[in-house]
Amino acid sequence: MTEEKNSIINDQDLNSARQKYQRERSKRIRSDGMNQFNFGTGEFKRFIDDPNAEPSFRRQPINDEVDVIIIGGGFGGLLTAASLHQTGTTNVRIIEQGSDVGGTWYWNRFPGARCDVESYIYMPLLEELGYIPSEKYAGGPEIFAHCQRIAKKYGVYEKACFQTQVTELRWNETNQRWLVSTDHGDTMHCRYVCTSSGILHRPKLPDISGINTFSGHAFHTSRWDYRYTGGGPNETMKKLNKQCVAVVGTGATAIQCIPKLAEDSEHLYVFQRTPSSIDVRDNKPTDDKWAVAQEEGWQRKRINNFNDVLSGIAVDKNMVDDGWTSTVNMMMKQIQEDGMPDSEAAMEVLSEKIDLKKMSEIRQRVDQLVNDKKTAEALKPWYRQWCKRPCFHDEYLDTYNRSNVTLVDTDGKGIERINNNNIIANGKSYPVDCIVFATGFDFFADINRRLQCKIIGQNNEELAEKWRDGVVSLFGMHSKGFPNCFILGNHQSTATVNFTHTLHEQARHIAHVIQYAKNNQFNEVNVEQQAEQHWVEKILQQTSPLQAIFSECTPGFYNNEGNPDQSNPQNGSIANTTEFFEILTRWREDGSFNGLIFT
Ligand code: NDP
Repeated sequence: MTEEKNSIINDQDLNSARQKYQRERSKRIRSDGMNQFNFGTGEFKRFIDDPNAEPSFRRQPINDEVDVIIIGGGFGGLLTAASLHQTGTTNVRIIEQGSDVGGTWYWNRFPGARCDVESYIYMPLLEELGYIPSEKYAGGPEIFAHCQRIAKKYGVYEKACFQTQVTELRWNETNQRWLVSTDHGDTMHCRYVCTSSGILHRPKLPDISGINTFSGHAFHTSRWDYRYTGGGPNETMKKLNKQCVAVVGTGATAIQCIPKLAEDSEHLYVFQRTPSSIDVRDNKPTDDKWAVAQEEGWQRKRINNFNDVLSGIAVDKNMVDDGWTSTVNMMMKQIQEDGMPDSEAAMEVLSEKIDLKKMSEIRQRVDQLVNDKKTAEALKPWYRQWCKRPCFHDEYLDTYNRSNVTLVDTDGKGIERINNNNIIANGKSYPVDCIVFATGFDFFADINRRLQCKIIGQNNEELAEKWRDGVVSLFGMHSKGFPNCFILGNHQSTATVNFTHTLHEQARHIAHVIQYAKNNQFNEVNVEQQAEQHWVEKILQQTSPLQAIFSECTPGFYNNEGNPDQSNPQNGSIANTTEFFEILTRWREDGSFNGLIFT
């Protein structure tokens, strides 16, 4: 089909795009779905070792009691600790697998890592900490340092346990406390437990044969091996200058590290299965005058404004005005010009046309930036923008104009196998010294897989057993029979582009409940069965506009590798994120703690 003009799309263009999207999708549908991946077992076990921690770290077991134990030291855990601190609970311990706080930003130290949501809204607690990010999209090391800043400010380091895996959480009915067991033989007791395991933290790798025959060096992007590459996140990887490097994958991670690898490697092969959509990032240093002019409460306003725009709520001004909000802007402009569509179906067609207009711009951008026509063609994404995480980058596409970079497009098939010093793709062998797997994370894991520990509540009931057919919760955070246990994450809560926003709202909610229980000398917070049932029903009634789109989408982790029907709707979330936050705010303001039972 011809590239669309920069105007509203006509029906013929829409139909030919649909057909092209369908053809590209069918090339990528595989019968093994999620089973095509390995999650760090068998031959791939070494891929999950932590390169930033002391490998043989041991310490004496801890046998003590604190008020609250938080599992996970990423933004969710840190924001919970901060919110608890702000409401008077300071006897708090974070338990974390890594050797420091930071979560995503501890693990993902790959060169070029940056937040892809504006740092003024992504990096939380900026006003509380008196910090302004140096750029509109801050780099990974700056965000990691911000995590450490939060930890210091709220006393997290004093009791934290790092390089520690919780093996079991068990509710003790007699003393109304949780017993937390770990792989260091700890037996810690606490009144409250919070879990914030992250949603994208278990690396996945293509489960292909030959990885152990590979004579070179290989690692996953979330375990970047600077001992091998030399340098650091902001330094040249000098040891690569005589190396031929392969990157497998072209998702949000790959597009950030590829320009850096291209600069430092002798030759770089990029093995692509499906191209990402790469829109303009427009990163720039923070304007000091703008920063100084911000009035108290500015960050909260900006965070809410971004979320409102993406939720389709009219705002006076789109404060962030970035790539994420630009499609919504296009939609609003079209509605202003042509009036509101008169039916849901008409609205869906308009949204599809706006999507096609945006994707056409993205494809045109490839032609503008990539010199070689064949390479440019291969880099064009043929699917609706939300089928995969939209990407934004100012240098990625230009990288393919370098003479030391080769795009190996596999036309949807992926790499076939590895042997000796070769990657085999398209039936051809590519000799390489190093393979970087930018192949993503386990997104559909249930709570057991995410936490890798058992949660055993009242009457010896296991949470995984209770949730066997889907999550059963109030607000995604409380579950009956698991008193004083709070769960942060996306199941039965909401899915924001700016994930720290969700985590902060959940953290505030948890701190509020614990403060109320403590102030009123309650020992136990449990959940009314009816409240839980109502919440599950509400989740099941959600029809996110994306759900229908996902079934037509090219495979990826958003649609369970092309099998959206196999995702459990009960593990879904409130589609309108602003609605979810308002539910929590109203619930707190109401003060009756509806749905919870305090004893
Ligand atoms: P993704 O799952 O998005 O990408 C994995 C890539 O690996 C895809 O391109 C996939 O191709 C490819 N792949 C998988 N198997 C094979 C194979 N056998 N052969 C060739 N290619 C293969 O993972 P990412 O780590 O890139 O991103 C995960 C998420 O992390 C993002 O969606 C985002 O939410 C987050 N992130 C956020 C960042 C930020 O700036 N805040 C930065 C980076 C990541 P295919 O598309 O065909 O499946």
